Amino acid sequence: MNEQTIALVTGANKGIGYEIAAGLGALGWRVGVGARDAERGEAAVAKLRAADVDAFVVPLDVTEDASVAAAVALVEERAGRLDVLVNNAGITGSAAQQPTTVDVTTVRTAVETNVIGVIRVTNAMLPLLRRSPSPRIVNMSSSVGSLTKQSTPGAETGPIAVAYAPSKTFLNAVTVQYAKELRDTNILINAGCPGYCATDLNGFRGVRTPEQGAAIALRLATLPDDGPTGGFFDDEGEVPW
Ligand code: NAP
Repeated sequence: MNEQTIALVTGANKGIGYEIAAGLGALGWRVGVGARDAERGEAAVAKLRAADVDAFVVPLDVTEDASVAAAVALVEERAGRLDVLVNNAGITGSAAQQPTTVDVTTVRTAVETNVIGVIRVTNAMLPLLRRSPSPRIVNMSSSVGSLTKQSTPGAETGPIAVAYAPSKTFLNAVTVQYAKELRDTNILINAGCPGYCATDLNGFRGVRTPEQGAAIALRLATLPDDGPTGGFFDDEGEVPW
């Protein structure tokens, strides 16, 4: 049996996902680099390999059933099982997200990627995860999905965004439901917030580096068997729901 830990990171061709792949690879893990565009994925894999990471590209659009099914087949062929799934791929949707004027397509698109995409990929990968001695699932969320923060006057929650922020609230709620169903298994599933990082997602306005943003995912990917499940964490600890 292959003793090397196997991970898959969705949306790993750039930004925080790339740094998560690099960080897991630095642990000596074999990392599937999920990328909806195969060329961008190959470029990221070449860069990771140059840094001595055992990386392979996994063409994967989280919104497409056929793409996800092909990704499962590829991971099975290349690794035989999956130890860690990081659901990192995400979008904000568009700049115009005032609730009273939003194009509902913007909301639907954000939910399709940030929530339904996570459910689609997780469920498809579960048979491979169940072959692992210590499976971990990490859902990259955001503190803008915290209803506690959103309803606390003065708390930093970014611009009004009726698609993006509620999609992360939805993702947090989904994470809790998975943890409840999987409580009697060895699978730990948690949501993580990377903080406000300079990436394409926000026009590189974030104040943290993508490497710093990756740290919480690395922590949740490497939890011990008695670690938490169904939680929401950032570098400081628990994030209020
Ligand atoms: P990013 O630089 O824009 O990267 C997003 C990644 O997701 C890219 O690889 C993108 O692929 C991929 N992606 C988008 N839609 C996809 C789809 N349908 N299927 C597969 N991959 C898809 O964003 P980031 O800042 O690194 O964000 C990573 C995660 O952290 C997201 O879930 C985001 O919501 C979360 N987050 C970020 C921040 C922040 O400040 N940056 C804060 C809180 C939470 P392409 O290159 O093909 O577009």
